[in-house]
Amino acid sequence: LYVEHPLGAGQSVPLDRDQAHYLFGVMRQTVGAQLLLFNGEDGEWRAEVAEASKRSGVLICQEQTRPLVLPPDLWLLFAPIKKVRTDFIVEKAAEMGAARILPVQTEFTNSDRIRQDRLQAHAVEAAEQCGGTYVPEVADLQKLSRLLDHWPEERQLMFCDEAEVGSALALASETAAQAPWAIVIGPEGGFSEAERKRLHALPQSHVVSLGPRILRADTAAVAALTVWQQRYGD
Ligand code: SAM
Repeated sequence: LYVEHPLGAGQSVPLDRDQAHYLFGVMRQTVGAQLLLFNGEDGEWRAEVAEASKRSGVLICQEQTRPLVLPPDLWLLFAPIKKVRTDFIVEKAAEMGAARILPVQTEFTNSDRIRQDRLQAHAVEAAEQCGGTYVPEVADLQKLSRLLDHWPEERQLMFCDEAEVGSALALASETAAQAPWAIVIGPEGGFSEAERKRLHALPQSHVVSLGPRILRADTAAVAALTVWQQRYGD
C-alpha cells in the first residue's frame, strides 16, 4: 500500500478515509493484520494494523523489508492524447521504470491541459501493482520547445521518429549507457517539421525507429520504453 507518510521502525501511520475503506471494508483486514507499505522514499516496510474502523485506522511500522530501489534516471516525454490512452501511457511508464513522466505540449498536440493529480494517482496505482518502492513524478503539462530550450547537457534523448527507417537499436554508444536519458514520443498528428528539425539538431539526440509501421502514440511509448530497457535498463 502506498502512503504519503514517513516510514520507520515504530512509526505510526494514520490512514485516510479512502485507505481505511479499502483495507477494512473491501479487503476485510482487521487489527493485527500485517501489510507492506511504501512511500516512494523510505523503501518497503512491514506494518501491523493497530486501529481499524470504517473511516480511519492506524498502522505501526515493524521492519524494513526492502530498501528504496531507484529506477534508472529515465524521463518519458509524451504529448497527451485521448484521456484513457494518456492514463495508459502513464501507467506503462511507471510499470516500466521511468523515473519522471513529462506530458509535453507540441504544435499538433490536441489537448492543452491534463489532470496532473489524476495522472499521478495512476502512477501510484501502477507502482503498487508492480511491487515498486518508487513512484515516478508526473510533471505538469509544459511546452516541448521550452524543455528543449533548457535541455540538460548530459541527458541523452531517444527521439522516436516514425519517418526514420532504421534499426530500433541504433542507439548511442555504451558511453551513453551511464548517462541520464529521456524518450520523446509525438502526438497523434506527429511532430511538426520544425520540431523534427529541432529534435534532430539537439546534440544529445539519438533518432530511433520502432519499426516500419506507424504506431499509435501509446503503443510507441511502450515499444520505446522496452527498447530502452533492453539496452540500458536496470
Ligand atoms: N505523424 C504520424 C502520421 O503519419 O500519422 C503519426 C504519429 S504517431 C501516431 C505518434 C508518435 O509515435 C510519433 O510522433 C513517434 O514519436 C511515435 N512513433 C510511431 N510510430 C513510430 C515508429 N515506427 N518509429 C518511431 N517512432 C514512432
